[in-house]
Amino acid sequence: MIIILQPGATDEQIRDIVSRIKSLGLGAMVSRGVHRTIVGVIGEGDKLRVKPLAAIPFVEKVVPIMSPYKLASREFRPEDTIVEVKGVRFGGDEVTVIAGPCAVENRDMLFQIASAVKAAGASALRGGAFKPRTSPYSFQGLGEEGLKYLRECGDELGMPIVTEVMDTRLIPLVEKYADVLQIGARNMQNFNLLTEVGKTGKPILLKRGMSATVKDLLLSAEYILSQGNNNVILCERGIRTFEDSTRNTVDISAVAVIQHASHLPVIVDPSHGTGRRDLILPVSRAAIAAGANGLMVEVHMCPQEALCDGEQALLPEDFEQLMRDVRRIAEVLGKRVAQLN
Ligand code: PEP
Ligand code: MN
Repeated sequence: MIIILQPGATDEQIRDIVSRIKSLGLGAMVSRGVHRTIVGVIGEGDKLRVKPLAAIPFVEKVVPIMSPYKLASREFRPEDTIVEVKGVRFGGDEVTVIAGPCAVENRDMLFQIASAVKAAGASALRGGAFKPRTSPYSFQGLGEEGLKYLRECGDELGMPIVTEVMDTRLIPLVEKYADVLQIGARNMQNFNLLTEVGKTGKPILLKRGMSATVKDLLLSAEYILSQGNNNVILCERGIRTFEDSTRNTVDISAVAVIQHASHLPVIVDPSHGTGRRDLILPVSRAAIAAGANGLMVEVHMCPQEALCDGEQALLPEDFEQLMRDVRRIAEVLGKRVAQLN
């Protein structure tokens, strides 16, 4: 259920309705839009108990939400959510690009890659310190040492950093260093992890599971939102299909489907999505043209020597070309590429 208040509802009226909902044993989440304030009623409440609230004078109407996710739905929040991380915005009319290595391999390489992607126009730095590798014998990441390099590099270049947290036990450590906590595809339905990262209040980059539907993805976002953390950025990173010419199949239509169903920003990861360097540029163009709020791209100075995912990393000069194309496509759509101050 959502309760749409009349325009100009006062703070006192909002507090009043929230306390009435709570006294029914239900949760209440307030979304203040430009034109309307909407109060979401959370919990499997008896609809008959909420319905009478429609009689309150400052309530415009009480509307059932049909989708299984509520706080993530456009019905709850008609305007786009803009997630702001240290002055970098995801959503609205900006196109925001996160770039960096798959994994932090050493300090020097990280600084080189970060400087190159910043110069080309990326506004956030990615890099894995704890890597979810298919084989236990593959490079697993530098752990805290990698987090320290990321923090140092992010501070020096003025770039927010995005890094994955794989396990609830690692949240205190990773949140100490990271600006955005990434939930990887393999953990999209690790519900305990979603709940716990929701409690941190940090912006969360939630990647779509490789066999998850858009509905599953939005329900996972709902776990985070239901903890009072509204800063969720969704990421389409390709799904498993019968097609084997690419590592995954990038579901471009998911961008538009998500934007129809949800107010949350959505970006596309063409690196994991395709697994192929030669496809990153065309798929990035397609993602931005489809309305994505940004991209997450793997970049490496020397992909053939990368410890992880070298085959899907761009060289810095190719990343520059990507940014040039993204700028032009963004402009056609009346958007602009987010810039670091
Ligand atoms: C990553 O972005 O580092 C990553 C491992 O991606 P995914 O979870 O989408 O496979
Ligand atoms: Mn990778």
